[in-house]
Amino acid sequence: MTAPPSCPLATARPQDLPALDRLLRQPGAAALLAEHGHSLVAGQARALLAERRAQAVAGQLPASAAQPDALAQALAARVAARLAPRMRPVLNLTGTVIHTNLGRALLADSALQHLLAVMQGPNNLEYDLATGARGDRDSIVEELLCQLTGAEAATVVNNNAAAVLLTIAALARGREVIVSRGELVEIGGAFRMPDVMESAGARLVEVGTTNRTHPHDYERAINERTALLMKVHTSNYAVQGFTRAVDEATLAPIAHARGLPLASDLGAGALVDMSHWGLPREPLPQDMLAAGCDVVSFSGDKLLGGPQAGLIVGTREAVARIRQFPMKRALRMSKLPLAALEATLALYLRPERLAQDLPTLRLLTRPLPAIEATARAVLPVLQAALNVAFGERYSVQCVPLQGQIGSGSLPVERLPSAGLAITPTGKSGKGRALDALAQALRRLPRPVIGRISQDQLLLDMRCLEDATQLTAQLGDLALPH
Ligand SMILES: *Cc1c(COP(=O)(O)O)cnc(C)c1O
Repeated sequence: MTAPPSCPLATARPQDLPALDRLLRQPGAAALLAEHGHSLVAGQARALLAERRAQAVAGQLPASAAQPDALAQALAARVAARLAPRMRPVLNLTGTVIHTNLGRALLADSALQHLLAVMQGPNNLEYDLATGARGDRDSIVEELLCQLTGAEAATVVNNNAAAVLLTIAALARGREVIVSRGELVEIGGAFRMPDVMESAGARLVEVGTTNRTHPHDYERAINERTALLMKVHTSNYAVQGFTRAVDEATLAPIAHARGLPLASDLGAGALVDMSHWGLPREPLPQDMLAAGCDVVSFSGDKLLGGPQAGLIVGTREAVARIRQFPMKRALRMSKLPLAALEATLALYLRPERLAQDLPTLRLLTRPLPAIEATARAVLPVLQAALNVAFGERYSVQCVPLQGQIGSGSLPVERLPSAGLAITPTGKSGKGRALDALAQALRRLPRPVIGRISQDQLLLDMRCLEDATQLTAQLGDLALPH
């Protein structure tokens, strides 16, 4: 029983809703059952009916929404929404190339293909094909890492935070680690050097001051409890002015004279000198090893351009202690990123091709005229789509922008870039207008992430190599949400 259709405010009563089994016999629902099976569809149908019943009890359910075919349609939408992945591809127009919140480095094609090929069935993850005996997963990348960095030995773990934790635990648990006060870094996401020391069961001994640390500061702090000297790359900040730090080449002989190892947490870990491509130079693991470090750790998904990983390279002795430490088993790398890491490292055997083969490096070195051309190509399409969706509420212009490498790499350097600035045309409510636009862009099928700065929404085009990924979906801006 429903109210007559002439009444525009007709509402349904709870008893107008069908029972669960009747809803599931609707043709639309039956098709869903055939495709997805009973558990998911019946569960969503039950939830849908409960929601509609509550609306009906409150007198807020339009009669049309209680109709069987409307319910079947709503059920299909619920099932599709439940099955839609939470993790989705987005367009990174923030201007930060290695964006931690957006998944950091992009994997190279060869890494993606190798990953897929090796994951489709069993593989020799820990199986030695030459002898038929049990193998070690480290051996998949150890030789490559040693060749690329000049290290004697290498091991890999889940990420660089794990690499640092494991290094400290394996080499200094229950003893003291000396670190300069100028290097007690916090990396985003609660990685703080003093806390890592504590988790690893080591005692942190701070030396020097925030701005200046001298060799004799380390020398004086060494005693019979000392197990390790550690250098931490201040990757996400810069101390400028009256500063002094002790470099690895100076510190290594100080450590070694007392029989102590020196470890370096490098953070970003470029494997090649980025100044070849006009980018600022980051310290390389090979430089750290040549300077006398016993252990160097760095990330796989920052400047290296690979999957999440913590790479540890160093002397045979130090790496063996790290590898044999029981915590290694809990922090070990999964076969998925390991496959991607091997293929990524292999790209470094052909350094001349690196800027084409490695997407992150390709984006970091993308010529400014190409970025400007993308901005010019998108501008008219975006302006037209905004006009259709919002009236004349926004105006779009091509602008020069300053991007950054990201992920704590080279924090003070800026990458000259270009993009679009979207300005609300209204005199007031600019903040709200910008938030509404940013939200509409995030609701696109492939969400678009820009940044709001000084009453403008900025879309940096450095990471948009294919403009149609953006323009082809702009028609959806006008769709109701
Ligand atoms: C990024 C970074 C880390 C953490 O590395 P993840 O791979 O993110 O775990 C540790 N130390 C430094 C200096 C870093 O820059």
